[in-house]
Amino acid sequence: MPVPPEPRVVVIGGGFAGLAAADRLAAAGAGPAGAAAPRVVLLDPAPALGGVVQTVRRDGWLVERAADNVLASRPEAIALFERLGLAAEIVPVRPEARRALVFHGGRPLPVPTGFRLLAPGDAAGIRATALLSDAGKARLLAERDVPARRDTDDESLESFAVRRLGREAFDRLVQPLVAGIWTADPSRLSMDAACPEFVAMEREHGSLSVAEERRLAGLSADHRGTGARYGQFVTLGGGLGSVVDRAVGRLAAAGVTLVPERAGSVTPRPEGGYRVALAGPAGGCIDADGVVVALPAPAAASVLGSVDAALATDLAAIEHADSVVVALGYRRDRVAHPLDAAGMVVPRVEGRAALAVSFASSKFAGRAPEGHVLLRVFFGGALDPERARLDDAEIVHLARRELAVLLGAEGEPALVEVARWPGAMPQYHLGHRDRVARIGRRIAAWRGLALAGAAYDGVGIPQVIGSGLKAAEEVLTALVRHAADAGGASPRG
Ligand SMILES: Cc1cc2nc3c(=O)[nH]c(=O)nc-3n(C[C@H](O)[C@H](O)[C@H](O)COP(=O)(O)OP(=O)(O)OC[C@H]3O[C@@H](n4cnc5c(N)ncnc54)[C@H](O)[C@@H]3O)c2cc1C
Repeated sequence: MPVPPEPRVVVIGGGFAGLAAADRLAAAGAGPAGAAAPRVVLLDPAPALGGVVQTVRRDGWLVERAADNVLASRPEAIALFERLGLAAEIVPVRPEARRALVFHGGRPLPVPTGFRLLAPGDAAGIRATALLSDAGKARLLAERDVPARRDTDDESLESFAVRRLGREAFDRLVQPLVAGIWTADPSRLSMDAACPEFVAMEREHGSLSVAEERRLAGLSADHRGTGARYGQFVTLGGGLGSVVDRAVGRLAAAGVTLVPERAGSVTPRPEGGYRVALAGPAGGCIDADGVVVALPAPAAASVLGSVDAALATDLAAIEHADSVVVALGYRRDRVAHPLDAAGMVVPRVEGRAALAVSFASSKFAGRAPEGHVLLRVFFGGALDPERARLDDAEIVHLARRELAVLLGAEGEPALVEVARWPGAMPQYHLGHRDRVARIGRRIAAWRGLALAGAAYDGVGIPQVIGSGLKAAEEVLTALVRHAADAGGASPRG
């Protein structure tokens, strides 16, 4: 009897979702019971893999062009670092930088002690802050008396925050902290999809203040940083790009074929499996038994249009925002501010161009040469798309002007690096969870086809890695069934 050839799996997209999926597929060893180990092909046209995670190292500077840290309280990123032999390189945010600042009326002020994104955990911290007026503080402190919402429909972040914390706390604290993470329009951002933890706090404890005070009572001081819980964030000494370098080496050693091409379309084959057409001038295609589509949702929609039009419609409806990160390096004595924080967010009501500034060299050692500091300025997002379209000279000029006002930075920067991220940040708008559930049901009807990436169940790197691993498992399971009954790529029914 002829030995059936081993199955082939194509992973489309080499960001962290695709890399995690390819790594899991390649590690399937002799394959799950009943199926041979798959041959894996990873398709991505970008000059470097890693998607939006890119680390530039030059002349003593280490610049993260997008993501610069990961949440360590979730297991997926740490587990990947360990699998890649990078455990010894994991470094936490420096203790002296574990706080966030908010620009307020011309000066940077700390986020009130105990305040976490939407949750006031310390009444004394609220009373002491200069970020809010007396009336704003009183309204925020009255949060514990606001009745819990009975309605279980999705709610926008703005509606939730204004209802529970008051308009001023929303404008001065929540809006800028949220913009720094999701670059979203808070009147459209879904609480159910983006902040389910806070919805559950209201539902279970009747109040965010009560829930947060109880949570903090059970934590060590290390984990009580304000604003963005900086005690729980880590990076790698050599930058997050080390993951990409290691992963690429490991994939090549495991026999994964890296193809620097763009996928144009995926089409079901009548005899089973899928045909992945390449979009490059040379054309060509790859036949596969399984496909992981690890792309931003609009790209996934375009690739999957010929598989399932309704699925593609739902994918295309997930909007993505543009952003730009301008990294500027200065001599230390050229920046007046002590930079004694992880960074600063800028409320929209302040009327400035920058969304946030990350104090990269304060957060982690080894980011700037001796006697210098590295700052990263964020622009764009859902509420300011035009700014993301400025050309390099304009955006650098703007970043320098912003740093002069926000932090007292003067003179010529010693380093300039502009990173553009068009359509990189998925927007979890109202109804996102329902849409993702619909997408999940439709994709599940196609054996051996799976989705991964930031567009669905979490934009953070750990969630994105988790999505890649889950997609790989789904495809491996499908290969077992395929081997068992030699089924096709038709809907499972
Ligand atoms: C500026 C910025 C800062 C961030 N900071 C943080 C942070 O500090 N911590 C954190 O946890 N998260 C952060 N994030 C979020 C996180 O980095 C991303 O959500 C995550 O890296 C996305 O990974 P991905 O694999 O889903 O997609 P991507 O990284 O977007 O990768 C998609 C890949 O698909 C490829 N591709 C596109 N079209 C095709 C095609 N047709 N065929 C083949 N390949 C294709 C692209 O070239 C790309 O490599 C940040 C995001 C941005 C934009």
